[in-house]
Amino acid sequence: MDLTQIRKDFPILSRQVHGKPLVYLDNGATTQKPKCVIDKITEMYTTTNANVHRGVHFLSQAATDKHEASRRVVQQFINATSANEIVFTRGTTEAINLIASSFCREFCKEADEIIISAMEHHSNIVPWQLQESISGVKLRVLPITDEGEIELGQLETMISSRTKLISVTHVSNVLGTINPIEKIIEIAHSYNIPVLIDAAQSVQHISIDVQKLDCDFLVFSSHKAYGPTGMGVLFGKEKWLEKLPPYQGGGEMIASVSFEKTTFANLPFKFEAGTPDYIGSSALATALKYISNLGMDNILKHEHELLTYATERLSEIDNLKIYGTAKNKSSVISFVVDGVHPYDMGVLLDMQGIAVRTGHHCAEPLMRRLGIESTVRASFALYNTKDEVDVLAKGVKRVVKMF
Ligand code: PMP
Repeated sequence: MDLTQIRKDFPILSRQVHGKPLVYLDNGATTQKPKCVIDKITEMYTTTNANVHRGVHFLSQAATDKHEASRRVVQQFINATSANEIVFTRGTTEAINLIASSFCREFCKEADEIIISAMEHHSNIVPWQLQESISGVKLRVLPITDEGEIELGQLETMISSRTKLISVTHVSNVLGTINPIEKIIEIAHSYNIPVLIDAAQSVQHISIDVQKLDCDFLVFSSHKAYGPTGMGVLFGKEKWLEKLPPYQGGGEMIASVSFEKTTFANLPFKFEAGTPDYIGSSALATALKYISNLGMDNILKHEHELLTYATERLSEIDNLKIYGTAKNKSSVISFVVDGVHPYDMGVLLDMQGIAVRTGHHCAEPLMRRLGIESTVRASFALYNTKDEVDVLAKGVKRVVKMF
């Protein structure tokens, strides 16, 4: 990968923060956008803005064509069998809420169980907890090791006739662990249990083929994959989406409405109430094409090199502990330095132009499992460089010295 050229594609990377060159290492929270994505948004508003699906006029049809073409780009990106399996949402969070709500309503009764893991983001915990008080389902939590790996051996002991769905993250946003989702899906399916994969932290790093994986649902956010905010994707196997009731009601999701009886639209529109983000879909498609052109394998290789290098450099620092030492890791490093509160570390790194995230990373139960309250998290993207890792390591050392 030609990093000099790639970095030129991202206008924000050349800006300064506090008089220092920006070193953006908060990619787990959101990625920066290449110029082609920014330009696509302007182009769409400048040339093709009209509400989709219901207009007979030229612009509406042009916007509809682009929106539906973008759905096919997403379909190809994750290799879904049909565009009907791609539902546009506002993000990962909305996609999980959709499945939690519709799935539990249709398939769960009192004391049925949903299995998640101990390393889930709040958005793969709380939507299920909301269902606990509605349909009476119970959450079961797959434990993890001190290294941050799922205790796979526990899965079969937790599965019972009450288990209705397993919902796990592909990559932990805190630990970077790449979970053995192929194995989890295989085990779940041997008991006829469907699986939802939270790919919010994986789709931008690892090539995903939903047919090969055979997952039943997979969700991700556009903004973490170089696309615009407010946009997300729910993939669901057609056989499941057909059976699930709508999540929200409104325009676009109906076949016909009367006060006596309303019928619903076909897939995927049944799950897309209201005006969709037809500008966002085009910009997301542009982002996915951008990373596909670079090559997901090239991106993975580069980010893995960054992870290895950053792990080495940070490990040189006295009293620095890395949380998450799984064998199979994505480009996320969470760490704590003895005697330096993560918040102070974050603020003092920021003064040097280095953007990292600090806190519980929306994974409070995981923090409790690790026995800590917060970490500093550096998360790398395709445009980061080894020089930036050096700036981070030097920056951390400088902060440690100050304390
Ligand atoms: N799951 C994981 C693993 C995440 O890292 C995040 C975002 N930090 C989410 C879900 C939620 O994504 P969003 O806020 O874009 O809906």
